Amino acid sequence: MTAGQTVRLPSVDRILGDAVCLDLIVRHGRVQTLACARAVLAELRTAMLAGAVCEEGASIAAIAAQMDERLQAQSRSPLRAVFNLTGTVLHTNLGRALLPDAAVQAVVEALQWPMNLEFDLETGKRGDRDDLVEELLRELTGAEAATIVNNNAAAVLLMLNTLAQGREVIVSRGELVEIGGAFRIPDVMTRAGAVLREVGSTNRTHLADYANGVNADTALLMKVHCSNYAITGFTKSVELDELVPLAAQHGVPTAVDLGSGTLVDLAQYGLPHETTVRETIEAGADLVTFSGDKLLGGPQCGVIVGRADLIAKIKRNPLKRALRVGKLTLAALEPVLRLYRAPDLLAERLTTLRLLTRPAAAMRAQAEILLPLLQGALGASYVVTAEAMRSQIGSGALPVDQLPSFGLAIRSAPASRVSNPLGALEQRLRALPCPVIGRIGQDTLWLDLRCLEAAHEAAFIGQLGELRA
Ligand SMILES: *Cc1c(COP(=O)(O)O)cnc(C)c1O
Repeated sequence: MTAGQTVRLPSVDRILGDAVCLDLIVRHGRVQTLACARAVLAELRTAMLAGAVCEEGASIAAIAAQMDERLQAQSRSPLRAVFNLTGTVLHTNLGRALLPDAAVQAVVEALQWPMNLEFDLETGKRGDRDDLVEELLRELTGAEAATIVNNNAAAVLLMLNTLAQGREVIVSRGELVEIGGAFRIPDVMTRAGAVLREVGSTNRTHLADYANGVNADTALLMKVHCSNYAITGFTKSVELDELVPLAAQHGVPTAVDLGSGTLVDLAQYGLPHETTVRETIEAGADLVTFSGDKLLGGPQCGVIVGRADLIAKIKRNPLKRALRVGKLTLAALEPVLRLYRAPDLLAERLTTLRLLTRPAAAMRAQAEILLPLLQGALGASYVVTAEAMRSQIGSGALPVDQLPSFGLAIRSAPASRVSNPLGALEQRLRALPCPVIGRIGQDTLWLDLRCLEAAHEAAFIGQLGELRA
């Protein structure tokens, strides 16, 4: 190291004239490259005052290399692709459902072409964007009509505001669900301008409780799917088919927030049965709301299906305009819905269902291949084993049922001297070019392989070398 005053910094002009920097200008533009050169020089000047810069550090080559690294980091999108090895297939924080190829192609086209979003190609007149999927939704759910909004929270808000503004909605105390902090039935009710009338108790609600709650102000009887919790033990809830005659007797509609809307009986794919939208309509619900990106396996959106007169009323609400979806959502949703016309091919074609139905043996075989590679990359500080584990569907679908899976379990080697070894490793995995997200529990870092499909295995293996450090 040399004393500060003997090191000379190159001028901005000389730096920008360097071959590496000329290439940076081509890639990032002159404005950004120049600003970056100035920033690096300013830092070097400060460091020189502290005598912390050597001849080599002040060379054009070193400065250009630093600029390259910085400009690359600056131009990287904050939204990144990651490996979801959490074991939760529909992970809300990781963007929920992955879309099938058919939807990907449709979105790419919609991004680059004008589309007949609200234009009837037969008449040449203005159309309704909901028409693009309404027929399919009617066919798949048995409902008379349908409309699409931004997400299920929006669907519930819009439905309540349209049907029950200034009036009462009866809900069981056992169904006042909170989804991920921000969506809570009592709060949405207030924002929709409706008055929540709670009936029954947390664990037991009887038909008589609903009957006693009905009065002249009642606008709606509502049931909400207990998506992310289960009430067990001494319990009683009222099924929709018991509620419907009571509602009819008082001339009040019934609505169901189904949460994760399933369009097929999942039992045929070896998964636990989840009440389908069709079953809910058949049981007499006047309106049903559900998410597009949970078990349905589509893009983020909220679907409302049900009685034609009520859907028409919902569409006329000015809030519908504020909550409507764009062309990309509809472009993605339509091909996903169409896949449901071939239920025998669904487990292969619908990404969400394909992941949920992957047999544990497939993940086991994968674990055997990956084990020595990961162990080699991690070295002696960690012990990697292939183990059985349990995946979750996620996003509030079937919170209690868990799917048998297989993956890699990483534990700190007894002799390891790393402090907080699992936390440190979790961070290293997150710092990979395609970050790997696992789950820590019981002094183990779990990498559930359910969501690592064969197509992405090579990319996963390819970056393991970067873990060596
Ligand atoms: C998930 C869920 C919601 C919220 O749906 P989003 O699509 O995330 O807005 C509302 N109600 C229930 C019962 C849910 O499970």
